[in-house]
Amino acid sequence: QPLTDQPITDVPASAALLARASAVIPGGVNSPVRAFRAVGGTPRFMAAGSGPWLTDADGNRYVDLICSWGPMILGHAHPDVLAAVNEAAARGFSFGTPSENEVALAEEIVARVEPVDQVRLVNSGTEATMSAIRLARGFTGRDVIVKFAGCYHGHVDALLASAGSGVATFALPDSAGVPRSSAGETIVLPYNDLAAVEAAFAERGHEIAAVITEAAPGNMGVVPPAPGFTEGLRRVTAAHGALLISDEVMTGFRCSRSGFYGLEGPYAGGAPDLFTFGKVMGGGFPTAAFGGRADVMAMLAPEGPVYQAGTLSGNPVASAAGLATLRGCTDEVYTRLDVVAHTIADAASAELTAASVPHTVQWAGSMFSVFFRDRPVTDYDGARDQDTDAFRRFFHSMLAQGVHLPPSAFESWFVSASHDDAAVEHVLAALPAAARAAA
Ligand code: PLP
Repeated sequence: QPLTDQPITDVPASAALLARASAVIPGGVNSPVRAFRAVGGTPRFMAAGSGPWLTDADGNRYVDLICSWGPMILGHAHPDVLAAVNEAAARGFSFGTPSENEVALAEEIVARVEPVDQVRLVNSGTEATMSAIRLARGFTGRDVIVKFAGCYHGHVDALLASAGSGVATFALPDSAGVPRSSAGETIVLPYNDLAAVEAAFAERGHEIAAVITEAAPGNMGVVPPAPGFTEGLRRVTAAHGALLISDEVMTGFRCSRSGFYGLEGPYAGGAPDLFTFGKVMGGGFPTAAFGGRADVMAMLAPEGPVYQAGTLSGNPVASAAGLATLRGCTDEVYTRLDVVAHTIADAASAELTAASVPHTVQWAGSMFSVFFRDRPVTDYDGARDQDTDAFRRFFHSMLAQGVHLPPSAFESWFVSASHDDAAVEHVLAALPAAARAAA
């Protein structure tokens, strides 16, 4: 695919779909970031995806650097995953009874992430974190949860709080409709600030059920844990009888075959007690999981008193897609992800430098973000202190040249193993003009 001769600016079919959608779906989208509110313009309604390419409703082609926000690690419509889905679907879509595919998927996860003895499959990352928190509360008999500003764990009431910082500052809800009582059980602390965690535990340690953290945050852009931070969380939580929940919904099976834990763990003092997974483990289908220590998981119904359930949980077609995707994640796949990500990030950085645009590139495995500021970002305040207008201009130049970045400055860029040299070349060719646009 050569670079488009004409910049992609006119998208009448997407515009028409947006108008239709807006009549029946709030904002015309089923997840807010898709609406392009941060960058302006018309969101592209996709008609098809193949490997690293997306085709929109007007027939324009884009190299995909969203990859469905992480899941499409092998690329779109990968033949092996497609075959597994077709095979499973031909046998029936959902039984509401146990079936083998979900067992095989659970076995694959348990085999990959050493501290995980058992998992329970659910339908989204939100359900996974919601259930992990209920389980931690049930296990400890405590109510308070610690989370970090800038970490996103899905739209769970108790976890939508991110305002406020400092010791024992009870956050106000970030979203209308979240009861104060719910957000009030959540302590929000600055990321990478172990002293704040220690102070919060010194004050209220006996009330805290769990600390939940993104294994390596990707939802304020990529902000990796400082050396020793996660280990410090392990030490403090263990000392106070609280659980540590590592949210690997984004990083799981992407940063390495066993997620970010595979890059950083095991920690002195032990592994996190619970993990949450999603995205890659569903291969583009709605499946996710939470899991961990056997004695904690034994608290779940039907074994124990913590209730959790789902009509479609462990769905055989979704499980087949996830299993085929995980089995396709070979060592060569992770090597290719690294090569693609570094080639694109290095070129982006070089072009931005040439255009005198202040920026910083940050990494977690092959996940990376380009922050439009000249200093490293270690927490949410830092992430917000960037030139989002420069990002907006950069984004639209890339889009017009057929490269679809995440439409927000606070996101990771995702690549897939199907990003071949032609796709990478296409991205590299678009970068100089985009960097000049950002300047
Ligand atoms: N946790 C993390 C780290 C995530 O990145 C996300 C989604 O982006 C979630 C949880 C929520 O997952 P879902 O969107 O599948 O509900």
